[in-house]
Amino acid sequence: MRLSVLGATGSIGTSTLDLVARDPERFELEAVTAFSNAEALIEMALRLRPRMAVIGDEGKRQVVAEALAGSGIEVGAGKTAMVEAATRPTDLVVAAITGAAGLEPTIAAIRSGTSIALANKECLVCAGSVFLREATAAGVTILPVDSEHNAIFQVFEQDNVERIEKIILTASGGPFRTWARDDMVTVTREQALKHPNWSMGAKITIDSATLMNKGLEVIEAFHLFPLALEQIDVLVHPQSVIHGMVQYADGSLLAQLGSPDMRTPISHCLSWPRRGVAPSRRLDLAEVATLTFERPDLERFPALGLARAALARGEGTTTVLNGANEIAVHAFLEGRIGFLDIAASVEATIEAADRHGLLREPATVEAALELDGESRKLATSLMKAR
Ligand code: NDP
Ligand code: MG
Repeated sequence: MRLSVLGATGSIGTSTLDLVARDPERFELEAVTAFSNAEALIEMALRLRPRMAVIGDEGKRQVVAEALAGSGIEVGAGKTAMVEAATRPTDLVVAAITGAAGLEPTIAAIRSGTSIALANKECLVCAGSVFLREATAAGVTILPVDSEHNAIFQVFEQDNVERIEKIILTASGGPFRTWARDDMVTVTREQALKHPNWSMGAKITIDSATLMNKGLEVIEAFHLFPLALEQIDVLVHPQSVIHGMVQYADGSLLAQLGSPDMRTPISHCLSWPRRGVAPSRRLDLAEVATLTFERPDLERFPALGLARAALARGEGTTTVLNGANEIAVHAFLEGRIGFLDIAASVEATIEAADRHGLLREPATVEAALELDGESRKLATSLMKAR
């Protein structure tokens, strides 16, 4: 199988390449991309020998080109090269860039007729319907990498859709699950970056701490599965053993379980509709012993409610939610705003976008990207004004 990996130096990217390295007979790497981590890109390219390696940051072209000189690996830099990497003929593109920055190359891959293993959920939050419309038009498959969606996909009986009552996305609850809201005022970057169960990139780790990640996932699920918003439930499950469930009209509740290791859902996507092999630790349920569940608390974690409300309000609103959240998370990581300011800033940006008449549903991916840009400007200027 021929594969390209966008965001190859990230958490999902390296998990994907770990599976590739374990089965060199089966996988052939076409292109890999990074944004600014030239060192990791070079190391990986020399080890796994893709046909092409692309660095997003133009300033690092030279370093990568020099290190890969004579290796026979083609080197590219910047946006155009990123799109080229995404559109070279392959069987599957793993979309593992973080944020709406991944939308352009991913949509380019779709337009070139390549199926996608989608980790980059922001593509769907930013451009949901138009993104999927393009996938349908191009006749490509979108396979969900996100663990909850992959779990649901594994137990979602396409032939029994009318017998599906609801789906349930589980959430670990993040590091502040049991904290009082007042105590969250002073949360530090380091505290928020300590996820109890999963090891992931910084942006999604902060999203998990605010529960915005689960909100983004509700929006993602709404686009991936033919269900109404009311049929998408969230359940806090601190052990992260059950990743997702589907409830049927006969009372059956089907679930997928596994240790928290993204190599399982990634492997599922790389082998679908068959099954592959992944080295993830096998679950010993006797050792786990207890699984617990709680309803999410929207008072302490308003981001989840904001995301649901945005989806109910229409797609322009989720585009703005996503852009504003990216700006706010970045500002929190740089120490410019507090933890509770993240959700507050997203809410303020949506209200301001409404006042500016921006909450229109984007008719194309390009319109979604334009609205994404507007929302970022708005979020930045509101932050400065505070
Ligand atoms: P990371 O931050 O670990 O990696 C992001 C990757 O994208 C890196 O290769 C990075 O390059 C590249 N990148 C970052 N910004 C840009 C940009 N502007 N243009 C091009 N490339 C860029 O993220 P994760 O792997 O954690 O997450 C990736 C996506 O998968 C996210 O959308 C996340 O929500 C989703 N996801 C992740 C899960 C996880 O377990 N990590 C689970 C479920 C979903 P560089 O290294 O050079 O900066
Ligand atoms: Mg997830």
